[in-house]
Amino acid sequence: MKPILVVFSGGQDSTTCLFKAIAERGAENVHAVTFNYGQRHALEVKLAREIAEEQHIASFKVITVDWYKDITHNALMDSSETIGHEPGAPFPNTFVEGRNALFLLTAAIYAKSKGIYDIMIGVGEADFSGYPDCREAFVKSMNQTLNLAMDCEFVIHAPLQHMTKAETWALADRLGKLDYIRTRTLTCYEGIPGDGCGKCPSCKLRAAGLKAYLDSRA
Ligand code: ZN
Repeated sequence: MKPILVVFSGGQDSTTCLFKAIAERGAENVHAVTFNYGQRHALEVKLAREIAEEQHIASFKVITVDWYKDITHNALMDSSETIGHEPGAPFPNTFVEGRNALFLLTAAIYAKSKGIYDIMIGVGEADFSGYPDCREAFVKSMNQTLNLAMDCEFVIHAPLQHMTKAETWALADRLGKLDYIRTRTLTCYEGIPGDGCGKCPSCKLRAAGLKAYLDSRA
């Protein structure tokens, strides 16, 4: 079985990806990389590490991008900012410029050094916040760019690309991990794991998706 590197934040989406990769390839073929880039909550990295260790995956790597917040500004990296979506702005102020491009490039460099050419990322555009680097066109373009940049055949897997949050919960359930993902992952902008604060946009999206899925199952 070919190894795969999962871009892993310890949130709902990337943890679902991690379990999908484990189910398909076995934990011994699954590697994970987590980025420490000045996000609000250092707890994210701690939770990601705990999940990776519990699942006995092949390797877990934290890459620190400590210069990122020196060159760009957003509410995700500046905890003094109020998270929101200005009227007329194309996307919420939690958008981090270039993040998925930076993560995928860095992940691919690291993957190649380990002889890994499959990379998985939990981006999705169905419940679209308007983030341009969650679109399929970006992912495909980045895949081509990585192949040209390093003269090899990477395959970027984005299994959640067209899934709603409810469908992502359904996938977690099929993998037998719904409760685990519900209680152990962190998506809340206030840094509260599990069901979170219940008030921030990220919690609302997650809770609405869960409710839609649970209602559809009932
Ligand atoms: Zn929240």
